[in-house]
Amino acid sequence: MKPEKINRVKGTKDILPPAAALWREVEEVAREVFELYNFHEIRFPVFEKTEVFSKSIGDTSDIVEKEMYTFTDRGGESLTLRPEGTASVVRAFVENSLFNRPGVKKFYYMGPMFRAERPQAGRFRQFHQIGAEVFGTDDPSADAELILALLDFFEALNITGLELKLNSLGCPVCRPAYRDELASFLKSRIGSLCESCQRRVDKNPFRALDCKSKGCKQAVSDAPSIDRFLCGECKDSFQSVQNLLKDAGVSVTLDPRLVRGLDYYSRTAFEVTSSRLGAQDAVAGGGRYNSLVEQFGGPPTPAIGFALGMERLLTLVDAPENEPAPDAFLVAVGGEAEKEIFQLARRLRRDGFMVERGFGGGNLNNRMKKADKSGARFAVIIGDDEIANASATIKDLIKGTQKQVGLDEIPKTLEDDLLAPIEEQSEE
Ligand SMILES: [Zn+2]
Ligand SMILES: [Zn+2]
Repeated sequence: MKPEKINRVKGTKDILPPAAALWREVEEVAREVFELYNFHEIRFPVFEKTEVFSKSIGDTSDIVEKEMYTFTDRGGESLTLRPEGTASVVRAFVENSLFNRPGVKKFYYMGPMFRAERPQAGRFRQFHQIGAEVFGTDDPSADAELILALLDFFEALNITGLELKLNSLGCPVCRPAYRDELASFLKSRIGSLCESCQRRVDKNPFRALDCKSKGCKQAVSDAPSIDRFLCGECKDSFQSVQNLLKDAGVSVTLDPRLVRGLDYYSRTAFEVTSSRLGAQDAVAGGGRYNSLVEQFGGPPTPAIGFALGMERLLTLVDAPENEPAPDAFLVAVGGEAEKEIFQLARRLRRDGFMVERGFGGGNLNNRMKKADKSGARFAVIIGDDEIANASATIKDLIKGTQKQVGLDEIPKTLEDDLLAPIEEQSEE
C-alpha cells in the first residue's frame, strides 16, 4: 500500500523558489539599510523559558492568554516558541551584559515567530518578522531616527502608499490617571464589550482600544483619549518626535487610539499601515519600552524598537523575475567526455559560473533538450572530437550561434559572451 502523504502543519507555509529569492532580497535590503544606521544583527533562540514572554508581553495580552505555543519539555520546564522578538532581545541584552558596551546599542533581527492564531488569509502560525531595537537613550531623536530607518527600508523596496500613525502612551507618572478614566468609561458601557475586554477592564483597559471585536470598536469610538493626560515630559518628548519627523519630510497621522497589543510600551508608539492591506492594515509597529530592561534584572535602560511582518510586507513588494538559470549547461557525448565534464563543471563553478550538467546519459539530441529546458544561456558540448583536440563547442542557446574553443579558454569565452549584449555584438 502506498504510504499516506504527510502535509505541513496548518498555518505554516513552504517558501519555495523563486519566492524564497524574494525573501532573501528583502532581508538583504533590511541588512543594508539598518546597518547604515549602525544597527548590528542579533540572533537568539526560537524558544525561551515561558516567563520571558509572560512577564514582558503581559499576562492579560491576547498573545500570552491565547496564542503562545507553550509546552513542557522532558525536564518538566515550561518553554514557549517565541511569539515576538523584543522580549528575547531584552533577555539576551541583560544576560550577556550588553549594557556594558559603549554608547547607544542598536540591534536588528529577522526570523520566524510562532502564534497559535486562527488561520485566516494572511495570518500564519509560523510567521516571520524583521525587528530593530535601540537601547540606552530616551532622546526623542532616537525615536525619530528609528522610525526613519524603518521608512528608509520601505522606500528602498519601492513600497509607497504607506501611512505613519503615531501616539504617545504616556509614562508611569501620567498614565495611571488616564487608565482610571478609561476604565470607568469602559465600565459605563460594559455590556457592549466583548467577553475578554470585560474581563480585562480593570487589569488592562487599554486592550479595549485595539480590540478587533465589533462591539468593542463601537464602544470605544468616543472613549477619552490620552493626549490631555500626558505629563509635561511626555508632551515635550512627543512633540519633539513629531517635529523631527516633520523636518525630515515625513507626514504623520496622530492616532490617540493606537496602543499596540503589548504591555511593555511607554511614550512613543507607532504603526505603519498600507491601504493595500485591507482590515489588517499594519505592516510594521513599535514603540518605546523604558522599563523592560529593568524588569529583566538589568540596569535602568530606556529602549525603543519596532517589528515588521514579512508575510504582509511581501504582498506589497513586486513579484520576483524568473528564477536564476545556469550560465552554462554541460553536455557530454561518450564515456570519456562524461569524465571531462564532471571535472569541467567543478572548475567552472570555482571560477564563479553557475553550472548544471545532464545526468543519466542519453544521446546528443536528448541532452541538448535538457540544456534548453534548464534555461541556461550556453551549452558547452564535449564529444569524442573535442576530447581528441582538448576543446569544447560552446553553443549560445539564445542566439543559436556556436564556436569551438580550447578547454582552457572556456571560462574567458563564457565571461566575454555573457557580458556581450544579446541583440548584436558590440561594434568596438
Ligand atoms: Zn508622562
Ligand atoms: Zn474586546
